[in-house]
Amino acid sequence: GDEIRAEMIDDLAKNHFPMCMRNIHESLMRDRHLKHFGRLQYGLFLKVLGVSIEEAIVFWRKSFSGITDDKFNKEYKYNIRHSYGLEGKRANYPAKSCQQILVADKPGPSDCHGCPYRHFAPENLESALLSSYASHGLSSTDLPAIMHNVKEGHYHVACTRVFEITHASKGVKKGEGVGGGESITHPNQYAARSRELSG
Ligand code: SF4
Repeated sequence: GDEIRAEMIDDLAKNHFPMCMRNIHESLMRDRHLKHFGRLQYGLFLKVLGVSIEEAIVFWRKSFSGITDDKFNKEYKYNIRHSYGLEGKRANYPAKSCQQILVADKPGPSDCHGCPYRHFAPENLESALLSSYASHGLSSTDLPAIMHNVKEGHYHVACTRVFEITHASKGVKKGEGVGGGESITHPNQYAARSRELSG
């Protein structure tokens, strides 16, 4: 597909990202900063989404608008390049799967990484879902069933249901998931399927 430029990421977030990445993106836009695990979870997701290293550096530099170039270059640029396998061990780090996000690095109160279905208090999850997805067809009448999945600990089922509801206008039906009844297992699978449906 076409190159993803830094200035396209905000629109992509609003139209195609699962709740975990919406939450990190919005925290970044609001605070102009992200703590380590948020940067890691979001940075690797953006890499796999198809954001090049050049555009990733433009995006993070613009997003961290409260700091000097010097501080950005010293404290953040190396880590961004590192996550693209361009520094240190030069490893090709994969983006984290839902399973990894659900169990590893439990977020503290001031963190924004993790899975909102698992890590948010119920009332915060409900309001985050409505503010993120009401414009894509999610309504408060959908919430009890979603919150039931959450309460049972079936976080990926809740996320899959939100995907179905917010892509109903693209012809996605209940039970179809991301295609063939498959549920969400990876944030990049959610975003890729969403972009494919609107393509
Ligand atoms: Fe993100 Fe996966 Fe949680 Fe959905 S289930 S919000 S894709 S971590």
